[in-house]
Amino acid sequence: MAAAVFCRSSLRGLTASLSSRTAAAFAPALSSRAASVARRCWIDDQLSRRRRRVAGSTRRFSSDVHVGRTGREPPSFAFAFDIDGVLLHVAKPIPGAPEVLKFLDDNNIPFILLTNGGGKHETERVKDLGDKLGVQLSTDNFVQSHTPFRELLEGPDNLRDKTVLVTGSDYEKCRAIFHEYGFKNVITPADIYSADPTIFPFQSPKSYTTPSQPLPRPLYNETAHPISTTTTASTFHSHLKVDAIFVLNDPRDWALDIQVITDLLLSHAGYAGTYSPLNNNPSVPNFGWQRDGQPPLYFSNADLFWSAGYHLPRFGQGAFQAALAGIWRRITGGRAELERVCIGKPYGETYRFAERLLGKHRREVLREIIRMGHHQAGKEEEDLGPGPVGPLRTVYMVGDNPESDIAGANRHISEGGTEWVSVLVRTGVWSEARGGRLEGEFTPREVVDDVAAAVKWALKREGWAQGEGGRS
Ligand SMILES: [Mg+2]
Repeated sequence: MAAAVFCRSSLRGLTASLSSRTAAAFAPALSSRAASVARRCWIDDQLSRRRRRVAGSTRRFSSDVHVGRTGREPPSFAFAFDIDGVLLHVAKPIPGAPEVLKFLDDNNIPFILLTNGGGKHETERVKDLGDKLGVQLSTDNFVQSHTPFRELLEGPDNLRDKTVLVTGSDYEKCRAIFHEYGFKNVITPADIYSADPTIFPFQSPKSYTTPSQPLPRPLYNETAHPISTTTTASTFHSHLKVDAIFVLNDPRDWALDIQVITDLLLSHAGYAGTYSPLNNNPSVPNFGWQRDGQPPLYFSNADLFWSAGYHLPRFGQGAFQAALAGIWRRITGGRAELERVCIGKPYGETYRFAERLLGKHRREVLREIIRMGHHQAGKEEEDLGPGPVGPLRTVYMVGDNPESDIAGANRHISEGGTEWVSVLVRTGVWSEARGGRLEGEFTPREVVDDVAAAVKWALKREGWAQGEGGRS
């Protein structure tokens, strides 16, 4: 699919912010002494766990795979699982998925859930998923499509105190999620419509029941005084200025959303109700489109389709993005593509964010094992050492969508030297029968029936499962 996405200065801010933090996350080096301690404690812990569980439960999630050999070092690999089509289908667990997660958890093999879904705060979604899958999950190893937007609160983008417009499946939920992230001034298209219903004449104000809140500042509507190239910002300072636009998840009110977003992209510096004098000016780069301080536009994922209850895939957020981009192409006469920032799988920003979060989660999991071993040995906490237990060599990305899960893993170049290995399952959106192409960057390292088979394949590749043939 690979929608055309054009980077602008704000994206560079996002990228710089992510990159610097990624580097910091991998900075602590592990002393050889600490590594030795970790390995010894890992073995002790595994033996202890085996003793605890031998009576009541099995560590197997199938008849031909189990782990727990003595003499093993802590895992240098981890997993990243997509959710829809891999762990769940239409909100129900895919057979084997709960057992796989429990198995990994029991054996302290780190994993992260990496989804292009969204629309709920991470805390709520994790609880919901945990209930459905019958395992305890945490926000420490959970990334939704819009989770990386939290990074824009600080750094070069510094949006914490600025005004942001957010849209998605439920305006009020979108607002609440952004408030919980820390954004202080969050408005929705419903707020703008309610402030001036003439902005969207196809909707009757009397029948409009979507909740809204008063705008922090009034809309600019002084048509008697159109702005010109000499108009100064002080003219508008008392009017609503939007500093960034976010599409959080799949919008429902496409028509209103496209109208409101397009208005802002045509505005002077994000002042709603204005029209930039630079638009369609051939003497300005990009014919002046999006060259007058308009707010950057962010999408949280680009999935054109997703696997839902209907027997054929349904439109996702990528379809909304395509509709907006198509209208923009008409407006600009084809002279300018829609400039926007798209995160989520398959884009690099999301994989860098996920790898950083997974690295942090892994260090916490493995350091806890070291801590347990030190307590048993009567050693002090300070002897733990500062860093992770060896480098994270491999992440197995298990997904059902070649265009997002698989392409993203294949494309990703890790700043920490971690290899991302893509594994495609047959339980989701991809189907051989529908002629899903598996070529170029869409080609997975392995195709398997389901998530249980994916984990078995990876464990065997790592030499962690019976009957393994080693790395391929
Ligand atoms: Mg999926």
